[in-house]
Amino acid sequence: MALVGDVKCYYCGFVSGEMVSPTGQSFKNATFRPAAGVDSTPVQKGALRCARCGGPVFLDDVRTEKPAQPPFVFERERPGRPRRARPASVGTTRAG
Ligand SMILES: [Zn+2]
Repeated sequence: MALVGDVKCYYCGFVSGEMVSPTGQSFKNATFRPAAGVDSTPVQKGALRCARCGGPVFLDDVRTEKPAQPPFVFERERPGRPRRARPASVGTTRAG
């Protein structure tokens, strides 16, 4: 489970992106995931500000997200019993 929070501006309410913490514990070592069209270069310098007006930001709508996983294919096989070989004629013959 990953902890995700919206990076929202105090001044204009613009959501610059999301903070994602893969551990799901805290945002201490979280990484910034910029929203579409948001330049993440100011974040590289260490200061996270609003991408629109440069105002202070806070974390809003903190929630847990499941990491994206490939679809699990469930093999339907009965364990411990070998498949019984059926005669080839079954199903092909018709009465009448
Ligand atoms: Zn702003």
